[in-house]
Amino acid sequence: MSTSPLPPFTARNYDFTPYVAAQNWIDGAWSEAKGRTTETVVNPRHGKTMGSVPLSGTAEIEAAVAAASAAFPGWRDTPMKERVQVLYRVKALIERDLDELSWLVSHENGKTFAEGKGEVLKGIECLEMGISIPNMAAGPQLDVSRGIRCETSYEALGVCAGITPFNFPFMVPLWMLPQALVAGNTFVLKPSEKVPYGAVKLAALFAEAGLPAGVLNIVHGAKECVEALVDHPEIKAIGFVGSTAIARLVYGRGCALGKRMLCLGGAKNHLIVAPDADLELTSTTVAASAFGCAGQRCMAAAAMVAVGDTQAIVDATAAAARTYALGEDIGAVITRESVERITRYVDGAEKLGAKVLVDGRKAIVEGAEGFWFGPTVLDHVTPEMPAGCEEVFGPVLSIIRAKTLDEAIAIENASPYGNAASVFTQSGGVARYVMERVNAGMCGVNVGVPVPREPFAFGGWNDSKFGHGDITGWDGFRFWTRARKITSRWAQHKDMTWMS
Ligand code: NAD
Repeated sequence: MSTSPLPPFTARNYDFTPYVAAQNWIDGAWSEAKGRTTETVVNPRHGKTMGSVPLSGTAEIEAAVAAASAAFPGWRDTPMKERVQVLYRVKALIERDLDELSWLVSHENGKTFAEGKGEVLKGIECLEMGISIPNMAAGPQLDVSRGIRCETSYEALGVCAGITPFNFPFMVPLWMLPQALVAGNTFVLKPSEKVPYGAVKLAALFAEAGLPAGVLNIVHGAKECVEALVDHPEIKAIGFVGSTAIARLVYGRGCALGKRMLCLGGAKNHLIVAPDADLELTSTTVAASAFGCAGQRCMAAAAMVAVGDTQAIVDATAAAARTYALGEDIGAVITRESVERITRYVDGAEKLGAKVLVDGRKAIVEGAEGFWFGPTVLDHVTPEMPAGCEEVFGPVLSIIRAKTLDEAIAIENASPYGNAASVFTQSGGVARYVMERVNAGMCGVNVGVPVPREPFAFGGWNDSKFGHGDITGWDGFRFWTRARKITSRWAQHKDMTWMS
């Protein structure tokens, strides 16, 4: 165990830069997960190993939960207005280290520096939401009859846990930590083993900001580690973000044990384009949604449903796709297997009759031997093709043609997912018609990535989310708390009735 500070990540450009072996953070100290195998952490832009991560199991989860349990009473009994001071300091520290953190996210995930910075800034916004909780968390109270007062308070659950995906190593942990910690819980975070450094840095920053030892613990690992976490009897609630297949598994396993679970899954988002849509705004916005973060966003435009005569918008969208410079505007995808999977989808669609308008297969970036896939636009995809209905999770826009708005809505409604859906139109009536009928939790009008910014809450529907409520905003606070209802009588009242 060591409490020595984490060395800075020194890269200030895309040149390959190794970093330390990621360690677990348990009870306020770094620990090695002795005897466990390690996995390499690969910089996707270069395809080279930049560090390593331990694949922890039951023993490391036991140690982290024991630390979190021991820290719980002290943290729970610290007033909320004091707890939140730690978050104010974390915000200042993230701002201090903004460039370092953005480059680190870029190097471990493969996204561009600008996207890395956007992610860190969005993480700050999530922290701000947590910081504002004390202004919202005063519970209601009311004299419900003569001499009788009812009140509600929101109380911590105990030891909670979070399991996060590779695509937002810094931001997704911050969907959970602010609300969970401000509520008075202690926490065990299991980040994606592909991108451990965002969480490692967060642990170091929370410690520097004065968070007591044991309140936040990081344990690295994969399936075995997740199962040990979900099965641990001391863990009361779990937030999960990842693919639908794993979200469903984790949700079922936790619910069977009576735990509070909220598991966000994958997506296939439809952007419905009406013939009256603004050409410039629509083409550039759809392209930005499809190709930003190399399409590795659960909110990415996956399918553009072009209604009626929208040929000019289709052409302009393909033209916009061609303006993206690989390596500069679009980063690498996470693994070689991702390149192979995305290639299979594009090859398969082409074989089934789709037209490849822009072809990102075999794209390379001079001087970077990593995992590349260029922006790709497929036209005349049908909803039955795998590229038309499954999550590709790469920079591929599938254009599906529809004759009418109702046909487009029916295509969207038939998807088992329900994360996001947008409409592009200049008609308020069309926008309203579509917004009232799409089968998705986060909807947009002339917006390509309809992420609800704080304080609005993030969460999809259907196979994009298992569990009740959203993961951020006020819903997030409610997920990590339970409501205590107190009914009090402190005075005898002469007008008391049977209700009193
Ligand atoms: P993933 O499901 O492979 O992994 C997510 C987490 O689950 C990781 O921490 C991983 O270690 C763990 N895990 C993997 N296999 C497991 C198993 N068999 N048992 C238990 N745990 C396991 O997801 P990913 O590839 O890291 O992330 C991409 C996916 O996440 C995409 O499907 C994307 O749409 C989704 N995602 C969804 C949202 C959302 O808000 N709905 C946000 C971000 C990403």
